[in-house]
Amino acid sequence: MSIPHTEPAPAEPARFTSRDPVTAEPVATFPADDETAVRRKVARAREAARWWDALGHDGRRARLLTWKRVMTRRRGEIITLLRRENGKVRADAVIELSATLALVDWAARNAHRVLRRRAVPSGPLMFNQASTLEYKPYGVIGVIGPWNYPVFTPVGSLAYALAAGNAVVFKPSEFTPACGKWLTDTFTEVVPEHPVLQLTTGAGPTGAALCASGVDKIAFTGSRATGTRVLEACAPSVTPVLLELGGKDALVVAEDADVEAAVEAALWGGCSNAGQSCTGIERVYVADAVYERFEARLTERAARIRAREDFGPITMPGQLDIIRRHVEDALACGGRALVGGPESIEPPYVLGPIVLADVPEDSAALREETFGPVLIVNRVRDAQEGVRRANDSPYGLGAAIFARRGVTDLARAVRSGMVSIDDVMAFPGVPSLPFGGVGASGFGRIHGADGLREFTVPHAVTRRRFKAPLAVSTYARGPKDIPRLERVARFLGSR
Ligand code: NDP
Repeated sequence: MSIPHTEPAPAEPARFTSRDPVTAEPVATFPADDETAVRRKVARAREAARWWDALGHDGRRARLLTWKRVMTRRRGEIITLLRRENGKVRADAVIELSATLALVDWAARNAHRVLRRRAVPSGPLMFNQASTLEYKPYGVIGVIGPWNYPVFTPVGSLAYALAAGNAVVFKPSEFTPACGKWLTDTFTEVVPEHPVLQLTTGAGPTGAALCASGVDKIAFTGSRATGTRVLEACAPSVTPVLLELGGKDALVVAEDADVEAAVEAALWGGCSNAGQSCTGIERVYVADAVYERFEARLTERAARIRAREDFGPITMPGQLDIIRRHVEDALACGGRALVGGPESIEPPYVLGPIVLADVPEDSAALREETFGPVLIVNRVRDAQEGVRRANDSPYGLGAAIFARRGVTDLARAVRSGMVSIDDVMAFPGVPSLPFGGVGASGFGRIHGADGLREFTVPHAVTRRRFKAPLAVSTYARGPKDIPRLERVARFLGSR
């Protein structure tokens, strides 16, 4: 008797729900993609990548600019989603969207100029060769994004990877998947033919599956701890990785600075997006000569900034514990509270800026990323000492300097990927400037020409134009060729 054989029905994928961080109301439900689902998407992306690459720079530019227009037209939807899923106040959502559109525009308009095939000099030894260089797409890029800027941050990778001719499989944070879906939906409206940009949803295991899925490169933005795991997951297959990790950005106020402007910059740099910015200002070093004035004005202004109106909640509940630990520890080890304190923490909000002064440099609040609306203000002798302290951190993402005399030298002395002078967080809004850090802030760049090249493989080609006067790289050479080469090398080498 034969036993009837039935295929087990495929198990329904587990699902998860994103929630409004204030009301805990559900926003959207998504599947938690497992390894098989992720691999299937990567396989589809590989086909799509060939089609997208073949469109050429002009074809992609047209599609990407249309995508930008669609996002602009449908901006009301994403502003609402950014508010609901992430908790942003309207101003922060509008700022995020505006900067995002600028990224797409720049990547679309500049990819051809930066990546196209060009002739490069062959040098005196190889002058019989015509040398060309072209930046070709990798193929399929896996993009893993954070929740704090769920549109701007992934688009910093997506737009540049797409403009360079790659297909992308994008995993947004499990806290902001609907924002991620809006990005892939608007793109698919413009590029319906092939799945050039796909969404994969889930938590850490889905991200880990993407790292091991055979993608040609991973662009990861997130915390240092997860970045380390991504690096480990990509090592066995030698998958290249771009890591945009956390920061502990400092603002240095020199003795001749515009104190009023520096106070406003410190406040906005520290508190916008509820301090949940990788390039948010967390440390302020103020020169002794203007310290009293700075502290008095900052105290007065910070007391007027409020959660709900000026910035939103802390998106991830667990982050409030880190903020509380840093603030309590800073006070326990001798810091002074200028504005607010642990009592300002009322989940899911930090009700107003917490401003502390005289905090020891080795405290957790000055060494680790706090990721809340907390500013630590320490007195330094002068701007040079401020820069030295700014540099004394494992992180090196961005920084800001307020100064007049010697400001360029001060900015150049900062160990970081980016610096704003007389402003704060200006660099992420300039799409032609590379964005990224040094040290524990990661490596590789998004934005700018470097950000386009990050998603390409340099392809070098030589073509012999005529027979070389010296027959060197052939066994058909004559007895005098190598001695002649040696004479030429001696001449070139001793110039
Ligand atoms: P996380 O590191 O917690 O998460 C980042 C992404 O990685 C999420 O999509 C997360 O999924 C996913 N992930 C989690 N575990 C794994 C894993 N094992 N393998 C692969 N992917 C995984 O960062 P946050 O989302 O908390 O973002 C905040 C951090 O991002 C801060 O440190 C901030 O400074 C940094 N950041 C850096 C920026 C930069 O450009 N340098 C810009 C913006 C933020 P899930 O959320 O679903 O668990």
